[in-house]
Amino acid sequence: MNAAAPPLDRAALLAWLREDDPARLAQLWAGATAVRRAHHDDIVHLRGLIEISNRCVRRCAYCGMWSGNKDLQRYLMKKDEILACAARAVRRGYGSVVLQSGEDPGIPAKWLADAIAAIKAAHPLAVTLGMGERELDDYALWRRSGADRALLRFETSDAALRRRLHPPLRADQPDRLALLPRLRDLGYEIGGGFMVGLPGQSYETLADDLELCAALDLDMIGIGPYLPCPDTPLGRRFLAGDRGVADQVPNSDLMTLKALALARLLCPEANIPATTALAVASPEKHLAALRAGANVIMPNLTPPAYRRLYHIYPDQARAAGSDAHDLVLAELRQLGLRPGAGPGGRPRELPRPPDQPR
Ligand code: SAH
Repeated sequence: MNAAAPPLDRAALLAWLREDDPARLAQLWAGATAVRRAHHDDIVHLRGLIEISNRCVRRCAYCGMWSGNKDLQRYLMKKDEILACAARAVRRGYGSVVLQSGEDPGIPAKWLADAIAAIKAAHPLAVTLGMGERELDDYALWRRSGADRALLRFETSDAALRRRLHPPLRADQPDRLALLPRLRDLGYEIGGGFMVGLPGQSYETLADDLELCAALDLDMIGIGPYLPCPDTPLGRRFLAGDRGVADQVPNSDLMTLKALALARLLCPEANIPATTALAVASPEKHLAALRAGANVIMPNLTPPAYRRLYHIYPDQARAAGSDAHDLVLAELRQLGLRPGAGPGGRPRELPRPPDQPR
């Protein structure tokens, strides 16, 4: 397998997803690394993650911030706190920040537009939004205010499963899959992605998830394991042993790494992060994901008092995801990688031939 390998067909995808032989898997990691290198060089972009609010009106079955969680104290960061985080990203040499939030139309579009404009006026940062399914007018306003990218994971390609785990607010609400091309039309780079091991996700579904990333021609792809949150009915059932369908995909780090490596092969140009949910219990936070083809790390810059309230999955897991800048730099050095400079958008230039002397 090399950077010029033919596209993976369905049978090959499924075979890789079921592969457990370490020697064969070493070939998958090597293939993904070769493609990452051909399209992204040895550069890893660092993005500062700022979790600006945990307010949410949705009832996503997997997420601890669902609106039914009445015990969770809700917050909205102040604009100057967000700006302070952005300044910290710049001091660390990052080229972009990601503003992520629960989904709440009560967070005024104009308020966020002002925050985006203030960041763009003060810093040469790319701004990525992870605000969920807001009105297209809101996204248009944010784009005019300077936002560059929008993340909206489709969570699962199985439409029936998505409706069950991510129920719409109204029967006539457009699906988030319909929103992604609209966001691209507005001029955003678009990101999607999915969770691995969601109860109800079969191997066929996971292959569909990967093929959907390619079909959408995503600029960014986020893939992380489903981490059961005890503050959700789905998480409680999972922890009690109810793991889903026949042919259920496990929510393991290994399965997630296989999916990540295959996404790299299918979507060579995409920016693919080593997500926080991956390797939460491992001291080598990002190494396996970087070896499997990831080229982005998103250290969390959210102030600790808010961070523990951004409760998508259990706090131990969140706390274990290390954000120490020095650790990230040491990991990159260990793999012969370098932090990227500048905004680090999707590279659309021709790839370097894989066997060209370096
Ligand atoms: N409201 C925004 C951001 C949600 S949090 C939106 O809907 O896009 C970002 C991502 O975290 C989600 O898209 C989901 O893929 C992931 N996530 C949520 N709960 C999770 C869980 N229990 N385990 C793993 N990932 C989770």
